[in-house]
Amino acid sequence: MCSNIGHHGRTDKTLMTSATENLRRDFGGDIIEPGSADYESASGAMLVPGSPAYVLRPGNVKDVRAAIAFAAESSLPLSVRGGGHSFAGFGTNNSGVVIDLGRLSGVDIIDADRHIVRIGGGATWGAVADALQPHGLAISSGDTRSVGVGGLTLSGGIGWKAREHGLALDALVAAEVVTAAGHVLRASTDENPDLFWALRGGGGNFGIVTAFEFAAHPSTDVHFGRITFPAAELSTVLRGWADYLRTAPEELTSIINFANPFFGGPDAPVEVLVTYDGDDPESAAAALDPIRKLGTVTSDDVTLKPYAEILVEGIAPPPGIRFASRAAFVGTESVGDVLDILTEVGSAAGSPSISVRTVGAAVSRVPDDATAYAHRQAELMFVTATAGPAPALEASRPAQDTIWERLTPHTTGAYANFLATATDLDVAAVYPPETRKRLASIKHQFDPTNLFTQNHNITPE
Ligand SMILES: Cc1cc2nc3c(=O)[nH]c(=O)nc-3n(C[C@H](O)[C@H](O)[C@H](O)COP(=O)(O)OP(=O)(O)OC[C@H]3O[C@@H](n4cnc5c(N)ncnc54)[C@H](O)[C@@H]3O)c2cc1C
Repeated sequence: MCSNIGHHGRTDKTLMTSATENLRRDFGGDIIEPGSADYESASGAMLVPGSPAYVLRPGNVKDVRAAIAFAAESSLPLSVRGGGHSFAGFGTNNSGVVIDLGRLSGVDIIDADRHIVRIGGGATWGAVADALQPHGLAISSGDTRSVGVGGLTLSGGIGWKAREHGLALDALVAAEVVTAAGHVLRASTDENPDLFWALRGGGGNFGIVTAFEFAAHPSTDVHFGRITFPAAELSTVLRGWADYLRTAPEELTSIINFANPFFGGPDAPVEVLVTYDGDDPESAAAALDPIRKLGTVTSDDVTLKPYAEILVEGIAPPPGIRFASRAAFVGTESVGDVLDILTEVGSAAGSPSISVRTVGAAVSRVPDDATAYAHRQAELMFVTATAGPAPALEASRPAQDTIWERLTPHTTGAYANFLATATDLDVAAVYPPETRKRLASIKHQFDPTNLFTQNHNITPE
């Protein structure tokens, strides 16, 4: 039958047998298949279940090359898993190959004077923070320990020190990449600069990053905590928070959460999470007091903590529960309109959980075209999220669509890392036309057959 004939006239079965033989010969890592002891824990990603035919856990770069060769030869769908936290479920699939980088998790300071840290492509940010803490160093990453260095960095990385130190990808100085063709390349401003540009925002499109090199920054303990206000004060607190953060000291980075259905939906307290990156109590108080004056403070647990301790552990949802998240950026001119809509939505029954983050400051000082993360001028990034069994999420979709139809005219593109979908519209929102065009040409150079598709995918051109 025609459908069974692969290229060169060989049957798919023959190709598969030869691919599997090559894998067993060349790959020294773990091969986890249905029936293997580890299969149940290895098959799914954090937020999305899966039933891949193979989970391959490489132990070194040679194994990564063999695993990529197997995926290419077998023609099975390929997912690459760093920390496995993608909302869209990129870290797993059904019946395909998952290359799980979890064993490539080293964190080594390779240049103590310049604070250069080499980190394995499958490490998590909690492990990085723990390893750097004793050296008085940190890298601004995200808010969660179990999130992967890989996925977060390759699409941005909006963390607790973003206003002061920029995105996680802004601290990247080099990467070691295995391409679809199995070449091991170094990317930096001096070597393969186009690839380096694309890796900083272009997601997992260009190959498997086996090691990241970051410039860490000296870090003291930080002031961190949660200041809450009554739901009835949402409008003034939200507006006042955004106004203040526009010019607040850059040591201050903040997230405001409201309408969380698990804490009362429209009656849930408005919580302002703050990090003041410094250990001086007076400077911290001076930066935080304007927030405390935004309304009636109902709780305030801001304390001095090591940076590694402010990152929380990601909690896997109970079986059957799925997340639907959408995210967008907001430019200064639209902040008022977007906050008005979010206030109205968040005050009504059936609202998604809403979270707004400050970006701007150091993130905005990098030119838009310096990296493939292009939404540098955005002042805010916000996320709406619903959770529940798949049928309930499906049923709530029209209401969420209506909310987003109101929001979209005021937004300026999407943040890939908080999108639970990867439609063409999503990809267009993540990458403005010029960025996408340049990425497509770099994709053509490094992944012409589009082997790496489980991402906000760039078609090679
Ligand atoms: C609980 C939670 C908290 C979060 N908090 C934040 C936050 O504070 N700030 C923020 O910016 N984002 C945050 N995120 C979003 C997070 O950045 C994304 O989910 C990100 O994709 C996770 O990366 P990962 O490596 O864990 O995921 P994965 O699902 O393993 O990978 C995501 C994508 O990256 C690719 N990839 C991963 N590693 C590599 C690699 N080494 N080489 C090549 N491709 C690779 C994968 O193929 C996939 O396309 C959070 C997510 C969750 C679930």
